[in-house]
Amino acid sequence: MSFADIPEDGGKEFKPNQFVKIEAGIPLRLRILDKKALHTEKHFLPSQRVSVLCLGDDVCPICINNQKLIRANPDVGPRQIKGLIFRQNRYLVNVLNRTLVKRSPSGNVVLSKGGQFPSHDPNTGELLVDIQEEPLDRVEIMERGPTLFSQLNAIMSQVTDEAGNPRPLTAYDIVIMATGHGRKMTTNVIPYPNNDDEITVPEEDKYVLETIGIRLSPDEITKLLGGVSLRDIFEQRRDAEEADILVEEEAIVGDAVKESIETLFPN
Ligand SMILES: [Zn+2]
Repeated sequence: MSFADIPEDGGKEFKPNQFVKIEAGIPLRLRILDKKALHTEKHFLPSQRVSVLCLGDDVCPICINNQKLIRANPDVGPRQIKGLIFRQNRYLVNVLNRTLVKRSPSGNVVLSKGGQFPSHDPNTGELLVDIQEEPLDRVEIMERGPTLFSQLNAIMSQVTDEAGNPRPLTAYDIVIMATGHGRKMTTNVIPYPNNDDEITVPEEDKYVLETIGIRLSPDEITKLLGGVSLRDIFEQRRDAEEADILVEEEAIVGDAVKESIETLFPN
């Protein structure tokens, strides 16, 4: 028995952000839940391996520093300037992940790879053979760059109703397929206009997209640029909630790294 029973979540209702994970060989069936994607701009700091939201031209210390570097190097293309930290366009949307999965007896979600489910849960070793596959049915945040979201724009203009009007992307499923890894990864979005069953997702199950991502003050960004770690910055804020957010941000940093590399070195 413990001296003080402290709930594992610290007593707060904390919902970790669940992001869509795009991986080669694992097609994802998704239903978009928002009428419009949210556009944000981010900087990825390679030395710190973190992405932070840009605060805008005149406020953001990274953008101000970029302008200085560009002025100091008038004869060089921006990509040749050392220390320039580009601003990346990012888009976010709530989706219902409807991919068929197997749930292990302990509740672990196992995805198929190359169309095949493993016989055992790779994490827990539990036997999966007799377990029926079922849709994951989980609300997730899809955050990607313009490459994927311009495909969604194209789909929306191509998939029309009988009168020739574009159908909303919320009306039918899409499947995202990825091939290759890292810089070589390409993603394809395929519309399934006939998979248009009506779905209802409670508003409160959706993420407030405006709150997703790391928003620092100009001072904090300056500290980050100076080499102070994000963890130390959050600790200085003495804000436990932010520390929680950091943990989940670290989990997706792998994706961010991959995408930043794609953005910096487009094929
Ligand atoms: Zn900026």
